[in-house]
Amino acid sequence: MRNETRRRRLVLFPCPYQGHINPMLQLGTILYSNGFSITIVHTNFNAPNPQGHPHFSFVSLPDGLSENDISTGDITRILTTINDNCKVCLQATLEKGQKLDDIICIIFDEHLYFCEAVAANIKLPSIILRTTSSATFLARYALLTLQAQGYEPFQDSISHEMVPKLHPLRFKDLPLPKSEDLKRAAQLVVDSYTIRSSSAVIWNTMDGLEQSCLMKIQEEYYCPVPIFPIGPMHKFASRTNNSTTASLLKEDSSCIAWLDKQSHNSVIYVSLGSIISTGEKEIAEMAWGLANSEQPFLWVIRPGSVSGSDWVELLPKGFRDGVGERGCIVKWAPQKEVLGHEAVGGFWSHCGWNSTLESISEGVPMICKPCFGDQRVNARYVCHEWRVGLELEKLERKDIERAIRKLILDDEGKDMRVRAKDLKEKVEVSTRQGGSSHKYLNGLVDFIMSF
Ligand code: UDP
Repeated sequence: MRNETRRRRLVLFPCPYQGHINPMLQLGTILYSNGFSITIVHTNFNAPNPQGHPHFSFVSLPDGLSENDISTGDITRILTTINDNCKVCLQATLEKGQKLDDIICIIFDEHLYFCEAVAANIKLPSIILRTTSSATFLARYALLTLQAQGYEPFQDSISHEMVPKLHPLRFKDLPLPKSEDLKRAAQLVVDSYTIRSSSAVIWNTMDGLEQSCLMKIQEEYYCPVPIFPIGPMHKFASRTNNSTTASLLKEDSSCIAWLDKQSHNSVIYVSLGSIISTGEKEIAEMAWGLANSEQPFLWVIRPGSVSGSDWVELLPKGFRDGVGERGCIVKWAPQKEVLGHEAVGGFWSHCGWNSTLESISEGVPMICKPCFGDQRVNARYVCHEWRVGLELEKLERKDIERAIRKLILDDEGKDMRVRAKDLKEKVEVSTRQGGSSHKYLNGLVDFIMSF
């Protein structure tokens, strides 16, 4: 820890979704261990649990979201509303904080671009945190250009063709949003990506994974300020004394005792993240695919994530009795611990960026079934660029069974595991003294100290 920095306060504002809260709180943990005091400002909606981080201060802002806004599940609409509603309140909170304390900077999630305007109003330095891959950043820009040229909607006939100048992405890998209102979604990207007065960009990625995209972003001037790729941030956070969970749902650690009873590299861990929902037919295909693979599995089914049911009521009859002790189903898992367990041999994932980084960091190969947005880009990189996963094209029991057996039992899967272990080693090197993410982190601390 650098003592000279203690008590200088940083305000961090996460976007209110699990995949954004985690990296922002990890960043807070890292900066706290470097001597800064941390205040987390957040919306009432999806408020993080302060008990997990007793060394931080938490301030909740009224976000003006109605039950109706939230029930639509339309992320674009929810984020636009927050950006419209929280300005005045954030400014008042920061001004009050400045009178009491030495606030030196606000770090905000890229989707909460209103923070930048508020910071500029009160002459407070601001820094953007991007929680996706840098490949996604480039792909979203490309998508905007294609949309402006009238290419969209893309025909099925070109879905497997390569997007010009965007290797290795095909049209089907472009990060199309899950939103009713595509115009609004495109505007959200523009607002999130335009840098007006912020001083720097922090990125939860690392040079060793995405060097060419990061170089392109700097060389082609997509980013006119310094960038700090300091990922995977959970690796740094886990080495501090203050590493805790930022889960919005309660983690069920009983699955670790179940994993302890399974043999090495045998278990397929299944989680589709914090947002995706499935229908009854899809859940049945998943269930029978898992059952027929005859491999042990740990399956996260979030409450309410299967349409028309509270939890597992719509699992097919006979499935649970059929698999018996071979299957473990939980509502929410301590994912990083699960991925680090020696029994886990593969991760069937939707390829959210955090899940992807967590899997890579533990050397676990993946079955990729992305749904929307950046998940498609990440899946393509996992399968095609880093070659540590295979793509599941169809959510059908035969394909699922085949994919699981290939990943866990076949030589092809074993080769992927070897490459995954190499990537894990790269992450270790990058996040240790002298590694690129480590150097960027030191650079970031110095940069913040210069304000
Ligand atoms: N996660 C978890 N337990 C679970 C499922 C997910 O702790 O049972 C965490 C996971 O470790 C990751 C985050 O939730 O940090 C999900 O973020 P990601 O970017 O992978 O996907 P999203 O939820 O944003 O789609």
